[in-house]
Amino acid sequence: MAGIGRWAPLASLRQRVHIVRTSSTEKLMTSPTTTSVKFCHACGRAIDARAEICPHCGVRQPMMYTPAVVGAGSGRNRVAAALFAMLLGGFGAHKFYLGKIGQGFLYLIFFWTAIPAIIGFVEGIIYLTKSDQEFAAEYDW
Ligand SMILES: [Zn+2]
Repeated sequence: MAGIGRWAPLASLRQRVHIVRTSSTEKLMTSPTTTSVKFCHACGRAIDARAEICPHCGVRQPMMYTPAVVGAGSGRNRVAAALFAMLLGGFGAHKFYLGKIGQGFLYLIFFWTAIPAIIGFVEGIIYLTKSDQEFAAEYDW
């Protein structure tokens, strides 16, 4: 009897924890993320910002909301990097811009061979062919 009495408070505490947990998950489930709403680019109706496909008309949305990939980069401008690469690639300007200082100095050292300028020009074109997400994931970190 005494043993059961000792465990009783613990049991009720567990029960309480369980109740708190379920109510908090309920709150998460029932309160929709009204703050992150976008408008379908086909039918114009408000849909969840994370929705890939509009639930109203079934049209795939252009992906604007990609926090994982965008978070990987520091938000450097892809077109600016491409311009640096094509115009000043021989000096490694785009490498300095992307924070790759070591590579930038390599370009500077071999500037006189004109090879960095050619590589830079090609890299600039590659940057332009990438999407912003791809660029951030591959170069901007
Ligand atoms: Zn729609």
